Amino acid sequence: MNRKKGSKSCDVLVLGAGPGGYAAAIRAGQAGLKVVIVEGEKAGGTCLNVGCIPSKALIHAASRFHQTKMAERDNPFGISLGSGSVEIDLSKTIDWKDGIVARLNKGVEGLLKKAGVELVTGWGRMLDGKTCEVSGKDDPVLIHAEHVILATGSVTTSLQSLPFGDKVISSTEALALTHVPDKLVVVGGGYIGLELGTAFAKFGSEVHVVEFADHILPHYDREIGKVVLQSLKSLGVTVSTGASAKHLSEDDSGLVVALADGSEEILPADKILVTVGRKPRLDGWGAKSLYLTMRDGFIAINDKCQTSMTDVYAIGDLTGEPMLAHRAIAQGELVADILAGKPRRFDPAAIPAICFTDPEVVSVGLSPDEATSRGYETAIGQFPFAANGKAMAGAAETGFVRVVARKDNNLVLGIQAVGKGVAELSAAFGLALEMGARLEDIAGTIHAHPTQGEALQEAALGALGHPLHI
Ligand code: FAD
Ligand code: NAD
Repeated sequence: MNRKKGSKSCDVLVLGAGPGGYAAAIRAGQAGLKVVIVEGEKAGGTCLNVGCIPSKALIHAASRFHQTKMAERDNPFGISLGSGSVEIDLSKTIDWKDGIVARLNKGVEGLLKKAGVELVTGWGRMLDGKTCEVSGKDDPVLIHAEHVILATGSVTTSLQSLPFGDKVISSTEALALTHVPDKLVVVGGGYIGLELGTAFAKFGSEVHVVEFADHILPHYDREIGKVVLQSLKSLGVTVSTGASAKHLSEDDSGLVVALADGSEEILPADKILVTVGRKPRLDGWGAKSLYLTMRDGFIAINDKCQTSMTDVYAIGDLTGEPMLAHRAIAQGELVADILAGKPRRFDPAAIPAICFTDPEVVSVGLSPDEATSRGYETAIGQFPFAANGKAMAGAAETGFVRVVARKDNNLVLGIQAVGKGVAELSAAFGLALEMGARLEDIAGTIHAHPTQGEALQEAALGALGHPLHI
């Protein structure tokens, strides 16, 4: 069938409305540029629809359920549940989570509209560096643009020997399960595996994590991984490191795993959640018809997010590690500023990384080993939450805050923390690094009492050699 192609033109075309794309579009629209953003699914991308937000909603619900269920165990507070039993109806939890996602979808659409951005729903395909064909419910549309921002994000990686299906699922399906699986095997002990593995363990699943590396959370240093491992064990989660997933057992009832000692084991499983990383989404939008230079499998960009093609920019997961929403947003905003005529380049002092396990993990800047391997002589201060009044009062004594600084001038190079609720400390950590703080700046800042944030000040005091509360 020959369908008529509508056509429109704009200053900026954004392909993909994830955090990177929608942030770029909003900023460019606010600057008065004529912007069209193309999205095949719902505004908000992976992050809002099947990533950051829904996972944090389930993590929160799981913690509420687990805390209530365990209220009478290890209970110095005198809580009694009476004779009532505590149950979870996961389908209701999922409805609640979907409600949050729907509100945020509408919120992003509203922000785009307010900034004067046109949202075109459909799958875009670049015909050349200035033209995109969009196929959706209606007739195909041709969009001509002065500037293009590629923001198609990333997709789940699968294992060849363990294809996705009813039993073998990715994070997307895990975030939509309406029944708690009795036995859940998680392949990959990184971000998603441990965040969702912890949530399902709290919902009541018997969880077994299979991790290829010799320690969990290989993106973080071992000392942090140890604290998380301890907590996983106390939740009843089994962790096999140095192990690799092979294939489903002959009767499909479990996963065959090669263990570190060379033996093989079948792990019984109702569901197998495969979380072995994500890869840039390079298929389906005409990447091959463009002249884009690649680097390590991602689209190569410079510090202005320019690709190898004139007037074609790329941002977010498409462009490399760390594949995090806040990096995508920062790049999106930066490109819009550049297109609006501002001199900008992407050169953050650090990009915070957080893993929402229990306890949570934060790392901003260099770990002690990374600092040493870059040739720095370091001063390190570490303060345990066991010596922090607020943490004690909140039964959150596990973990620590650690500050890594240059020994010669006390410039802070990195800050790490593991502990309950430390995700919220990442703002202070990031600000310290971005402002070029010295140990004295942190130590000399009055930190409110009682807060877990005091552990940051204490860690800085420790690195200076005069801790107060330890
Ligand atoms: P995406 O969010 O992937 O958006 C790309 C968009 O482009 C999608 O909406 C897609 O439909 C659209 N698109 C693709 N191709 C086309 C096309 N041809 N035409 C039209 N539209 C197209 N990061 C964090 O920082 N914190 C977290 O807590 C966190 N948790 C996560 C939890 C999970 C389970 C997952 C999977 C990821 C998580 N992430 C988290 C990572 C985060 O989601 C990504 O880093 C972020 O979404 C990347 O943003 P982006 O704009 O580059 O791409
Ligand atoms: P990941 O890179 O965090 O973890 C993958 C893990 O799988 C690694 O530990 C790796 O060693 C292991 N692995 C790889 N192959 C394996 C195999 N065959 N058998 C056993 N283990 C294997 O990836 P992810 O958890 O899939 O998350 C993808 C990305 O999404 C992350 O890198 C991150 O960028 C983003 N994310 C971020 C957050 C957050 O910021 N809180 C949360 C979720 C996801």
